[in-house]
Amino acid sequence: MPPVKYQRGDTVMGRWPGSSLYYEVKVLGFDAKSQLYTVIYKDGTELELKEQDIKSASGFQTRSRSRSRSPGRRRSRSRSPGRTTRRSSSRTAAAVAAAAITDSAPSSRRDTKLKDTVEVTLSPLVSATASLSVIPVLMKKLEITMIALYFFLSPGAYFWLLFLPAWVLFLILQVNLVDPSLVNFPPPLPPLEAFWDAQALGFVTLWILFQAVLYVLPVGKVSEGMPLRSGERLKYRTNGEADAVAVAVMVHQDVDLTYIHSHFLQLATASFLISVLLSIYLYVRSRYVGQEQLALGGNSGNVIYDFFKGHELNPRIQDFDLKFFCEMRPGLIGWCLINFAMAIAEMKQQGLDTPSNSMILVNLFQLLYVVDGLWNEEAILTTMDLMHDGFGFMLAFGDLVWVPFTYTIQAYYLVSHPIPLSLPAVIAIVILKIIGFYIFRKSNSEKNAFRRNPSDPKLSYLKTIHTATGKSLLVSGWWGVVRHPNYLGDLIMALAWSLPCGFSHLLPWYYMIFFIILLVHRDSRDMSECRRKYGSAWEEYCRTVRYRIIPHVY
Ligand code: NDP
Repeated sequence: MPPVKYQRGDTVMGRWPGSSLYYEVKVLGFDAKSQLYTVIYKDGTELELKEQDIKSASGFQTRSRSRSRSPGRRRSRSRSPGRTTRRSSSRTAAAVAAAAITDSAPSSRRDTKLKDTVEVTLSPLVSATASLSVIPVLMKKLEITMIALYFFLSPGAYFWLLFLPAWVLFLILQVNLVDPSLVNFPPPLPPLEAFWDAQALGFVTLWILFQAVLYVLPVGKVSEGMPLRSGERLKYRTNGEADAVAVAVMVHQDVDLTYIHSHFLQLATASFLISVLLSIYLYVRSRYVGQEQLALGGNSGNVIYDFFKGHELNPRIQDFDLKFFCEMRPGLIGWCLINFAMAIAEMKQQGLDTPSNSMILVNLFQLLYVVDGLWNEEAILTTMDLMHDGFGFMLAFGDLVWVPFTYTIQAYYLVSHPIPLSLPAVIAIVILKIIGFYIFRKSNSEKNAFRRNPSDPKLSYLKTIHTATGKSLLVSGWWGVVRHPNYLGDLIMALAWSLPCGFSHLLPWYYMIFFIILLVHRDSRDMSECRRKYGSAWEEYCRTVRYRIIPHVY
């Protein structure tokens, strides 16, 4: 076998697929079977390249003067395609692209514009042998991509920005109906003043501050996150269990929690307001951080899209990690607090001495889910949200509004829609929950332990596939059954949460339906991400483990 020409860690020039342009890349590895090199570009993009698409760094010249920069340093000049250029003309990028495409011999002025546009989009270094004539063609491709981003991503983001809050509102209004069937859709809108309650805003603010104080307490262990693109590993204080205990003590102090049931809409509005303000803050601060601190997925240059998707990966105020805090604390613990408040409201409304069986099951099941999450808080550090997604409206709204105000709909529903459950039904549902929980916990812990220490002797019995990035993929154990065993366990648990609410209405099944859509979408998002990262090794994994979530079904 001929020797490998480029070694792991070498800095070379890699050709951008479909063009004659070369960028500085670092070699991550070589797959002898496919004869492909895995390389990483400065903006974090990983691709597999053939040897002929790689050249040594000597023999290259930078195309333009001092302004020529790597993709990783272009932020200060990046702009959305819809924004006009500030210099000599007010044409949009689309118009610039059109001009570039239609004119065959660029004048010097337009050449400057061309350079601007190319730099805005990719800022390549050009091979000494590459002809300048490819630039308009390349620009066309790049601009079409940018315009597509502008037209397709942005309306999507607008849609979700409006739809998500509207959906929460719909659920809250619908669950308040005596008969919340779909035939009674849409529920009547209350007057505007019914949404607002200053006291509710005060309570939500206090709750978040209280959680923040518990979070910064110097108790609990400090865990390291996964390596970032820069190689740095952030530290996180994982003291969620102490946090939960403090809340339980507070709840025990005879606080009248029925306020939560009677002011649910106002509390949700207050949380929504806070999530919007937080997202604005996150987006504004993300404009001032370095490129390497941005999330790859939320870095399109389109303001609305990036605001929605999350621009900065790990926004922190000193050691206070905003994303980690919001993911794990106010919303998640708030979810249990609200459920508990619903149990008290049910007893009051139905004149019961103890909550109903259905309410107890929903409360206990979801409490177990949250306590487990807090107990294994470290495991969140290897999840997609923490590793890949930027912190923007999508997660801020999800953490502060969606989780506490829609995941509690089952408990809310049971307050005024009692469902009697026989003992055998209770036992069957409990067994289902235990099965789901077992699959969920075991699979998540297995991957977490493997990612933290791939040579852990306790995992030595597991088969793995080596990837060109240096990381391996589990191909036996839970991750050899399906590609997302953790989603399977989670879905079984979701079923166990919905069953206590009976079959009279679709509304309490909302979580189950939403969760199927969420996890199927999340699975395909993860599939594309892993295919990009691991290339042929991922294909091999998919050939070996054929089903995504449910064995022999999907
Ligand atoms: P995963 O925890 O499944 O993380 C996916 C990542 O795991 C991949 O990107 C890859 O990252 C790694 N991976 C994938 N396959 C393998 C393999 N064979 N061997 C080793 N590593 C592998 O996804 P999520 O973050 O989406 O989910 C985490 C948990 O959170 C799940 O249990 C999910 O059900 C739950 N969840 C719950 C939600 C809720 O609202 N209740 C919402 C979302 C998730 P890499 O290789 O880079 O390490």
